[in-house]
Amino acid sequence: MTGAVRAFIGLGSNLEDPRRQIRTAIAELDALPYTCVAARSSLYRSDPMGPPNQPDYINAVAAVDTILTPLALLDALMGVERSHGRIRHAERWGPRTLDLDLLVYGDRITSDARLTLPHPGIAERVFVLLPLLEIAPDLEIPGRGRAAALAAVLPDGGIERLKSDE
Ligand code: ATP
Ligand code: CA
Ligand code: CA
Repeated sequence: MTGAVRAFIGLGSNLEDPRRQIRTAIAELDALPYTCVAARSSLYRSDPMGPPNQPDYINAVAAVDTILTPLALLDALMGVERSHGRIRHAERWGPRTLDLDLLVYGDRITSDARLTLPHPGIAERVFVLLPLLEIAPDLEIPGRGRAAALAAVLPDGGIERLKSDE
């Protein structure tokens, strides 16, 4: 695609067969208009963030090439979340069938009511940085420095890479 931008999508699920939710979501990203999946990480199991007493998460990161604008891509991601039966509750970070975060969109740095780029949680989240580094080991997070340097200062643990048949 001429003029395509490389973007990274963080995927998470902890309800209703999370592995299947993530695998099918990646196929659906590849099927979005003007967008194709260039790389995908392994699946990772991670401890839940936020409210305790919810199931572990399955996480992954996908790289996409797209000519959609950032807001059009965000709308498309929310459409995929809805098609997976995502219900938004008042409680932040509660359990969900599918969460798709737009982590990075090219070198774009922006913040408004609907969209902050890069995603504000990246630097603190090992379940984002480990799968991201698997597919983009040299990535520079716009305005934040190298993903590898951000990951190096986070505590170990709370996450496990799954073998492909798990
Ligand atoms: P977090 O954003 O901390 O990971 P969350 O994923 O649980 O939490 P959601 O309820 O999925 O939060 O999203 C809340 C709002 O975040 C969305 O309505 C969306 O407009 C906004 N948002 C801002 N920046 C982004 C981004 N980079 N990617 C996805 N959503 C974003
Ligand atoms: Ca999220
Ligand atoms: Ca989200």
